[in-house]
Amino acid sequence: MRLDKFVADNTSYSRSQVRGLLKAKRIRVNGQTALAPSAALKSDDEVTLDDAPLQARSDVYLMLHKPAGYVCANTDAEHPTVFDLPGFSARYSNADIARLQIAGRLDLDTTGLVLITSDGQWNHRITSPRQKCRKAYYVECAAPIAAETKSAFAEGVLLHGEKRPTLPAELELLSANTANLYIEQGIYHQVKRMFASTGNKVLRLHRFQIGALALETDLLPGDMRALTSDEIRLLT
Ligand code: URA
Repeated sequence: MRLDKFVADNTSYSRSQVRGLLKAKRIRVNGQTALAPSAALKSDDEVTLDDAPLQARSDVYLMLHKPAGYVCANTDAEHPTVFDLPGFSARYSNADIARLQIAGRLDLDTTGLVLITSDGQWNHRITSPRQKCRKAYYVECAAPIAAETKSAFAEGVLLHGEKRPTLPAELELLSANTANLYIEQGIYHQVKRMFASTGNKVLRLHRFQIGALALETDLLPGDMRALTSDEIRLLT
């Protein structure tokens, strides 16, 4: 890992502030003054700031049951963000919350499974389009779901403003107006836009699974819990 990233990850300083610390010769690696932000660290290198050793913080991996009315963002001028949920301030300092990332956002009104982590590579493996990580949504529509929707979604639909059709998706009809939809992409407002392309409107959207990881059924809206190491591995 780069020296500037290691120091930023394990202190409350930003990457640009770390450059100032390096210039001021306040950081040492194995006792030697370090100057290069890009210096590559080995796992057993000892990094000190003002002669105090920095410990690598362990990464955070959480499952959150997102309630409606919260934005999946670190800050928002209009609405509370998921990080305003009391579970975060009860567990983490503001500095720790600042390094958390959302692995796959949901809309303000969408509920369900959101994964939150400090591990950027793990996040990338879940959200990168190349990984084709399957997400499962429960959908309630305003009008009955037309019979041809299943085959249209399986073939791919061209969303308004997009150049290519969506990747094949699986629709499992549950009742006239409700279905489970399984998609492998994360295009902006994808599920709502897919149903809009069929002339229907999504009234309620709930994500219940990402890859092999399902939202725990007794986790109430607004609640969160740490993932087990087996669950973290399920998505790698
Ligand atoms: N698709 C949507 O339209 N909204 C979401 O929140 C998630 C997927």
